[in-house]
Amino acid sequence: MGNINFVQKSNLFSYTATRCLRNEYYHNDCRICIDVCPKGAFHIVRNKLTLFENECVGCAGCIGSCPTEALEIESFDPNGYAASYQHHEEAPTLTCKVSTPCLGVFDVEHYTVMALRGDKSVTCDLSHCAGCVLNENGKLEESIRAKVEGANQFLETIQNPHRIETIEVKEEQADRRALFRKGFEKVKESLAEESVAHVSMTTAHHKLPDMKMPLKRILLKNSLKEIVGGMETTAFAISSPLFFNKQINFETCTNCGDCTQFCPTDALFPTSDKQGIYFSQGKCIGCGICEDICKPNAITSKEGFDLVSVAYERSEQLVHYEMVTCHECRCPYPYKGGDPICDRCTSFMAKHANMFTLARDM
Ligand code: SF4
Ligand code: SF4
Ligand code: SF4
Repeated sequence: MGNINFVQKSNLFSYTATRCLRNEYYHNDCRICIDVCPKGAFHIVRNKLTLFENECVGCAGCIGSCPTEALEIESFDPNGYAASYQHHEEAPTLTCKVSTPCLGVFDVEHYTVMALRGDKSVTCDLSHCAGCVLNENGKLEESIRAKVEGANQFLETIQNPHRIETIEVKEEQADRRALFRKGFEKVKESLAEESVAHVSMTTAHHKLPDMKMPLKRILLKNSLKEIVGGMETTAFAISSPLFFNKQINFETCTNCGDCTQFCPTDALFPTSDKQGIYFSQGKCIGCGICEDICKPNAITSKEGFDLVSVAYERSEQLVHYEMVTCHECRCPYPYKGGDPICDRCTSFMAKHANMFTLARDM
């Protein structure tokens, strides 16, 4: 067995394997970066995500899509950019030609934060996407547009006056490679234009490589704190690409604790007496590990989000049990009524009913 590369670098791009859901959690099959990478630079090797460094062109197209920020480009910090967006004298147009690398560097959170913090709508220039050499089968453009749409959907739901507006002018496709080279040079140049927020956010990230909450989520929560006080309604009964909600079926949950143990952000955590489960909507990144891991399928997603809960990380108790001692095996178990016999003993007795009858008759 060779050594595991925890951080792989290619040009200005880095992939931290210890932050990757797929690598860290046996039950996760995230492949967002694999699907979006225009060069097919990510491969699954022995069930682990691996970056083939010679295939990566450092375009940054995948970066915004990673839910845990395992992917970074060292010359551009989307969190720092979104945080400092409001400080520009004139809100810059987001464009891979001037101010940023490929717009795939941003996620829904970044677009939302820029719209919430700025004093007007954010303009996003997508006119180069169709002719871009990185957009060979359209998947990069599709991913960027889905994120813009997700942010706009949320902004509309909360009736925010600002949106993400797109510029759609089609450009000549004469020299697509030259366009890509130009964009890549811009990435390098942006090293010299780091803002204070950019530096502090990047430093914070590198200081805490194992932190559980992606910085983009923290940034979003801080932006929401600034607006929830003035909102008439903060609870919405619909689904959102930004926020996730969970419910646990009391009857089928066995209180095994697997979901609380494997939730990567501690959005699910046990009550202090270990007899119940809390859920914090502000911490959930929607990775789906809890639902994949739950053997009785007791935990499921549901619609609805509450911005106060998200912004201030308020938790909701999803289930709570009274623990009693099983009259057969003498082990404590979550009691749900009827004879005080745990599920394991009940199923054991059902499977081996003949053996019990035989023993009684002997
Ligand atoms: S998108 Fe992020 S978490 Fe998902 S497989 Fe890629 S690096 Fe891992
Ligand atoms: S919801 Fe599922 S994984 Fe979580 S404690 Fe209940 S049975 Fe276990
Ligand atoms: S609660 Fe959210 S973050 Fe935690 S495992 Fe489930 S989907 Fe993932």
